[in-house]
Amino acid sequence: MARYDLAAVAARVTHPSAGFERTDVWRYRELMPIEADETPLTLGEGWTPLVRSQRIGPALGLEELYFKDEGLNPTGTFKARGMAVAVHRARALGARGVILPSAGNAGSAAAAYCAAAGLTCTVAMPESTPQPIIDECRAFGADLQLVAGSIADAGRWVRQRIAEDGSFDLSTLREPYRIEGKKTMGYELAEAFGWRLPDAIVYPTGGGTGLIAMWKAFDELETLGWIGSERPRMIAVQATGCAPIVTAFRAGADTAAPATDPETVASGLRVPSALGDFLILAALRSSGGTAVAVTDPELLDGAHRLASLEGVSAGPEAGATVAALLELLETGAIERHERVVCFVTGHGLKYPAVMSAA
Ligand SMILES: *Cc1c(COP(=O)(O)O)cnc(C)c1O
Repeated sequence: MARYDLAAVAARVTHPSAGFERTDVWRYRELMPIEADETPLTLGEGWTPLVRSQRIGPALGLEELYFKDEGLNPTGTFKARGMAVAVHRARALGARGVILPSAGNAGSAAAAYCAAAGLTCTVAMPESTPQPIIDECRAFGADLQLVAGSIADAGRWVRQRIAEDGSFDLSTLREPYRIEGKKTMGYELAEAFGWRLPDAIVYPTGGGTGLIAMWKAFDELETLGWIGSERPRMIAVQATGCAPIVTAFRAGADTAAPATDPETVASGLRVPSALGDFLILAALRSSGGTAVAVTDPELLDGAHRLASLEGVSAGPEAGATVAALLELLETGAIERHERVVCFVTGHGLKYPAVMSAA
């Protein structure tokens, strides 16, 4: 993982937020992998709205529920944050092109940032990926390979291709910079709440990098002295058709066995095996959090409620967080007086067929 001279940053930036002027991931430039003389690669990702729930929270008796609306990022998901930084670094390191497997949204985000940076982009994704995401990826000029199966099969195709042509590998957690972009979600939450973290974060978990990244961000902020040692309870939500982290969490295991026959309409959650499984499980446990699974009808209902009761367009992945709230309240994993943030990781417009079929 990327490490910084945090003591030097703390000495330079005496009041958190001082000098934070940009409204993209480079807002926290001092804490990002960029040299002083480099111009950041950006399409305006990050600094997304934190929307206070108008109806879903109150109906559950949940006093302070918020939605972090990542659907408003370039390419409609938080994947843009990671790709802004990863493609920036790949270019700075001299790469001409990148390659990655994706469940869909990471691929289209990579394609967009490569288009902006002037790099070539090769993406392998499941043939079952929602058509708008496939079309988007092609529109951004990526060389797209559709594979039968899941992101695990796309990963095998990519590793074969890398062995042949030596492209720069942008696969999840095989380079350290996508995490650096995604950690800005954690910085933004801290800043939005006046450098006090919420009580719980409910996150739709596939590869889990968003969760791992926020966990890293909180440690950095504590080292800087901008927050204390308190942490939100990190809560991972998965789909019952592909819930390896939930299964491992319940079993008390440190790593997760791959899910067999992964199946869910929430394509971003169709990740049978997460490279960072041990990091996700460690963050869930040391934060006092938990992991829960919801069915496809439940998560679609959650997305519909986000749209119809809050005006927030959400993909099925984000719907899973809303679907999980009732169970989390019933089991005491969250309490009614607490400040809770659900991550709306992607925009509903990316899933028209899925959303209208429900
Ligand atoms: C990738 C993705 C997820 C899962 O994110 P991870 O941080 O990799 O677990 C959730 N929702 C959407 C819309 C995604 O694209």
